[in-house]
Amino acid sequence: MTSKRCDYFGESVIRDMTRLALHHNAVNLAQGFPDFPAPEELKKAACDAVKADHNQYAITWGARELREAITNKAARFNNIRADPGQEVTVTCGTTEAMMASMLAVIDPGDEVIIFEPFYENYGPDAAVSGAVPRFVPLEGADFTFDADILAAAFNHRTKALVLNTPNNPTGKVFGKDEMSVIADLAIDNDVTVITDEIYEHIIYDGAQHTSIASMNDMDQRTITIGGFSKTYSVTGWRVGYVLAPPHLTGAIRKVHDFLTVGAPAPLQHACVAALDLPPAYYEELVRMYDKKRHMLYNALSKHGFTCKLPQGAYYILVDISAFDRGDDVTFAHYLASEIGVAAVPGSSFYKNPEMGASTLRFTFSKSDETLQEAVSRLENL
Ligand code: GLN
Repeated sequence: MTSKRCDYFGESVIRDMTRLALHHNAVNLAQGFPDFPAPEELKKAACDAVKADHNQYAITWGARELREAITNKAARFNNIRADPGQEVTVTCGTTEAMMASMLAVIDPGDEVIIFEPFYENYGPDAAVSGAVPRFVPLEGADFTFDADILAAAFNHRTKALVLNTPNNPTGKVFGKDEMSVIADLAIDNDVTVITDEIYEHIIYDGAQHTSIASMNDMDQRTITIGGFSKTYSVTGWRVGYVLAPPHLTGAIRKVHDFLTVGAPAPLQHACVAALDLPPAYYEELVRMYDKKRHMLYNALSKHGFTCKLPQGAYYILVDISAFDRGDDVTFAHYLASEIGVAAVPGSSFYKNPEMGASTLRFTFSKSDETLQEAVSRLENL
């Protein structure tokens, strides 16, 4: 009695691992959300907004004040010029932003290019919108792609390419040269790039975040997705946004309107306060995550996981081959139930589960105390 499209994808493995972590009382290094408080400025702004009666629907595209603040931030930080009237849409997190964008540009049977490993949601996003995904591998220690393989993935049915930088789960930050290759192919093949930049502020060792929309001739064919969840530690608020030229925004807004009407009104007001935070906030965010990155990396390396320090985001994708303890799912269940640390089986980031069977993803988006507890439990491995 259910639709065929629902047969094409399962439940989220990431969220399933959170439930498993709760069941076993394991430290949850699976789902990427902070277990520490959001900035006081945001909490106060949210309380003030409720008290000021911002409790009814905001304008469907997003509160004007927030769209303007996003526009200013995009000019300042992303080198993207957007008109808040016609080119900004506030959504219920980047999750809705991606789904609304795909539904807005994809016709069933169109092909979408996705780099693999990929954030779990892109598979179901493609399935729901009727897209046929075509995966291009990110390979080697630096998760690079082969330009010829990417070029060969384009054909007359290719409608969009999904980019995610800084990348979940690999931690890769796409360089300008790589983005030029992607941009040239998108232009030559008349393809829209949908770029998920939710981790744009979480970047290490002087790496630079580039928004592909800011590159030559890309502004008219790029949908840039961002959000507040990760930068301001408010994953439960569900506020994200889409920047896109008017001809794309028109379609995205229609989908968004009928899907959700709008993102939570009082929290949109609080997100204006987020965008008012000074540069020192972002510097401290990076300092904080850099310390956590080393803490988790050192523990994982010490205990036999093969991994590299990520350049961005807050995940470490590890190889578990050295353990000889079954595949990723078996090992993740053992880790959660016997060791008391939950991670995500790597297969959930691949179309073909076998390709991720020797990998696990850990997040370090947790308080130092939580990480310390995980580190000491890993001693029992
Ligand atoms: N983006 C986070 C992760 O990859 C949270 C996923 C989710 O539950 N939406 O873990």
